[in-house]
Amino acid sequence: MVDVVRHDVVIVGGGGAGLRAAIAVVEADPTASVALVSKVYPMRSHTVSAEGGAAAVARADDSLEMHGYDTVKGSDFLGDQDVIQYFVEEAPKELSQLERWGCPFSRNEDGTVSTRAFGGMTTKRTWYATDKIGFHMLHALFQTSMKYDNIVRLDEHFVTKLLVEDGQCGGVAALDVRTGEMKAILGRSVILCTGGGGKVWPFTTNGNIKTGDGMALAYREGVPLKDMEFVQYHPTGLPGTGILITEATRGEGGYLINSEGERFLTTRDYGVGTKAELGPRDMISRAIMLEVRAGRGIKVPGKVGEYAHLDLRHLGEEIIDSRLPFVRELSRTYANVDPVHEPIPIRPVLHYMMGGVDVDIDGKANLDGLYAAGETACVSLNGANRLGSNSLTECLVFGARAGQHAIAQSKDTSEIAESKLVAQADAEGGRIADLRGKKAGSETISGVRETLNDIMEEGTGVYRDQTRMAKAVTDLAALRARYDAISLSDTSKVFNTEILAMMELRNLLDVAETVATGAVNRKESRGAHACEDFPDRDDENYLHHSLVYREESGTRFDTKPVTLGKWEPVLRSY
Ligand SMILES: Cc1cc2nc3c(=O)[nH]c(=O)nc-3n(C[C@H](O)[C@H](O)[C@H](O)COP(=O)(O)OP(=O)(O)OC[C@H]3O[C@@H](n4cnc5c(N)ncnc54)[C@H](O)[C@@H]3O)c2cc1C
Repeated sequence: MVDVVRHDVVIVGGGGAGLRAAIAVVEADPTASVALVSKVYPMRSHTVSAEGGAAAVARADDSLEMHGYDTVKGSDFLGDQDVIQYFVEEAPKELSQLERWGCPFSRNEDGTVSTRAFGGMTTKRTWYATDKIGFHMLHALFQTSMKYDNIVRLDEHFVTKLLVEDGQCGGVAALDVRTGEMKAILGRSVILCTGGGGKVWPFTTNGNIKTGDGMALAYREGVPLKDMEFVQYHPTGLPGTGILITEATRGEGGYLINSEGERFLTTRDYGVGTKAELGPRDMISRAIMLEVRAGRGIKVPGKVGEYAHLDLRHLGEEIIDSRLPFVRELSRTYANVDPVHEPIPIRPVLHYMMGGVDVDIDGKANLDGLYAAGETACVSLNGANRLGSNSLTECLVFGARAGQHAIAQSKDTSEIAESKLVAQADAEGGRIADLRGKKAGSETISGVRETLNDIMEEGTGVYRDQTRMAKAVTDLAALRARYDAISLSDTSKVFNTEILAMMELRNLLDVAETVATGAVNRKESRGAHACEDFPDRDDENYLHHSLVYREESGTRFDTKPVTLGKWEPVLRSY
């Protein structure tokens, strides 16, 4: 039988959302015990790579009202306004607290917190720590979590299944990567904080571990995924690798230029108005694609395509070195250009998923005992397009709230038949054991993954149309047969990374299916979902959230109303 461990709350994920949730649980109930399960050592979570900053009102010329409206408008009116209201109110408290926990935000001469401009925000609202906010934020959270003995870490444990009995989630089955043994990690509630799934697409800023695991785990248990068609392309990734060049470069005054050296966001009408480079990400990504289509892209050989240039030269070496040192380092190392002297080649790359596990404002999913927070969740803060720097703050605000509610709720939950949960984990252990060195057909993990990436780039890129989206749905269904025909070669138990890649690929396929299904069902253009055959927003028919369910017979699509409030939908222009 599998090893069994018991805690009050099981948190899957040691990134910004997971660590914040863990601290919230033990602060709310000092007697509670938390299992913090992560497939990598927590400091390697994707949060660590965040560069630009985290948004919260800090300045005298700013207000909660303005942050609220910027977020609503950025979301193309698909964000839930009660969620947005709570978010902007909590944001400054969370960031101030993070500073007390040790996050070294950059400061002005007079000692106040320094904020920088970010796309779609009307004033400087993004708190930063040079261009390494993610590292500092994660570090502050990680060291704070270490104060609590009752946060028990299970590093390098890969969760493969939620344990669900009688309509109640009572834990997870996790593979201990170091030993290859399966564990049943039981808790009265589970919080999924597993981040996004950018690896569904070929060009992405996302680390290799971002394979949408939590979304897929919930989806497979019948929990709907919400607004999955909305995926964010960041305008400035390095062409070959997808490595992010932070929006802070434009916040500090960087320009985008085409092959003719023209600053096209100011000379042509791309809907960003006077905001120019500080327009929202969806619009700027589309502008770059249109420049390339018009023959003004900068060509490179191979699959990488064409791109534009990000020009920082006019900022000068001093500003670049003091505010954007990491950008200089990344450009030199990965693009062989020094931004002090040359423009940086960039292209839109997949960056963030607005959609995720459908949860309410408390982070609760449509399955008792199950919660989600951070990028894996869709609490409906970001709607159809996220504003840069709202995400890290979202991890804090809604990670904390999910933690508080998960522990409060777990007290009055009836005990679930433990033996049944353990039996499920046992069966899961058997399934994984059968995968080791499995001989099936002639397919390979990399082959199927490459086809998946191609299907999604073609069908769910910056620009989409009905024919290509429908083709993505059909092609993905066919790809499942190829997944089943993958043969594996590694039979070892210890650090069998081939098995992990196989399970991650299954998660990617599930997530991709929901993205394509959501996309094909939205016959309008809104936020990041730009349909060439339905170029306008259609509030009459589509001002709703999308839900995709997994059922025995396949996917089922449904909708859910948007929570509106004081801000009526109007045409989104800048
Ligand atoms: C390069 C980059 C820069 C960014 N910059 C900014 C920025 O400046 N400002 C901003 O607001 N946002 C930024 N974002 C977005 C933001 O960083 C992320 O959305 C956010 O950090 C996600 O945090 P998270 O806690 O939800 O997930 P993550 O930090 O991705 O953590 C996920 C955790 O889940 C664990 N996990 C996943 N699957 C499993 C499994 N099967 N079993 C066990 N554990 C599992 C992982 O081990 C990890 O600990 C950036 C994103 C990227 C990619």
